[in-house]
Amino acid sequence: ASLFGAIDMAPRDPILGITEAFNADTNPAKINLGVGVYYDDNGKVPLLQCVQKAEAKLMEQPAPRTYLPIEGLAAYDKAVQELVFGADSAVIQEKRAITVQALGGTGALKLGADFLKRFSPNSEVWISDPSWENHRALFESAGFVVNNYTYYDAATHGVNFEGMLAALKDMPQGAIVVLHACCHNPTGADLSQDQWTQVIDAVIAGGLVPFLDMAYQGFGAGIAEDGAVVRRFAEKGIPLLVSNSFSKSFSLYGERAGALSIVATSAEEAARVLSQLKRVIRTNYSNPPTHTAKVVAMVLSTPELRQLWEEELAGMRVRIKEMRNLMVEKLKEKAPGHDFEFVREQVGMFSYSGLTKEQVGKLREQSIYAVDTGRICVAALNSTNLDRVVDAVAKVL
Ligand code: PLP
Repeated sequence: ASLFGAIDMAPRDPILGITEAFNADTNPAKINLGVGVYYDDNGKVPLLQCVQKAEAKLMEQPAPRTYLPIEGLAAYDKAVQELVFGADSAVIQEKRAITVQALGGTGALKLGADFLKRFSPNSEVWISDPSWENHRALFESAGFVVNNYTYYDAATHGVNFEGMLAALKDMPQGAIVVLHACCHNPTGADLSQDQWTQVIDAVIAGGLVPFLDMAYQGFGAGIAEDGAVVRRFAEKGIPLLVSNSFSKSFSLYGERAGALSIVATSAEEAARVLSQLKRVIRTNYSNPPTHTAKVVAMVLSTPELRQLWEEELAGMRVRIKEMRNLMVEKLKEKAPGHDFEFVREQVGMFSYSGLTKEQVGKLREQSIYAVDTGRICVAALNSTNLDRVVDAVAKVL
């Protein structure tokens, strides 16, 4: 018998399944709202000007593709660390933060998970209910038991904050709690700064280990605003992990540009943490790719390119907000008995629209693809497809 004879077929990825169904649909007016990708108003994934300029500059002096250090390109790690914590932050000044280049946000989470499993093997992990669909599988594959904490409240389309706080207070000391720094995926429901204050207090009081996942910095209220919670945690002097991704904010999905930062309680401790993190990387993929790191490092650390990036990112953020506003206004007209105001309050690329699985099924009959949970990607709406989406939603309500 074959070594592989007894292997079962793995379940299909639910989101990639939507894309497969979408690709097979021959209706030219089909619309895919199931994705986690930003599209411009022409329905195209943008190639940012700042990236094109950095690449052109790099091409002026072609460089050999030698191995990077295990922890990645030094200029990248430094620029990312300063973006995440602020160049003048105590954790950087006191050398308590370490940052390593990672293969996207997913790669950063996996490095963090593998590192934590080595040094806190008996801790359990808590993720929001619901969360990004890969969080559970990723931490489970690192060997952790993964639990949910209360998060979304379907009745208000916002956060069940009382429930979340109670769950945090119930967690055992040393529990690893994964928090979305901004633009919660999949719900679009974020905490206020006031609520974050209470979360930070509960994390410290309970001796929990916060792991902040920041995959959408700049898509909520702005780069600084979205990153504020990371800096607030970092000021507290507790151990902290932060994964961040440039997939969305640089529109560099396939380049796998991300980083993992860990804040330790002293410089000496941070050096030991980095040495062990390098072992995790070395035995996994040895060292990360060169091109993406050079591009992002150049953009972040060259003032004109940095400014251009911030403008281009603001353009994406503003366009998403316009789509939220227009969708709410148009639904007010087309579906007068239904209140979609909450779509305006939600932030980032996604919205839990409140559509049921059955309603999503009916949308699909009209060649409009959303996730069964009702999650839609607002960043896939545009001035051409919005009316069709609104008409179709009004029809299935
Ligand atoms: N974390 C969250 C919450 C996400 O939504 C995503 C991507 O969708 C990631 C992490 C992973 O990002 P990347 O594509 O850079 O691996």
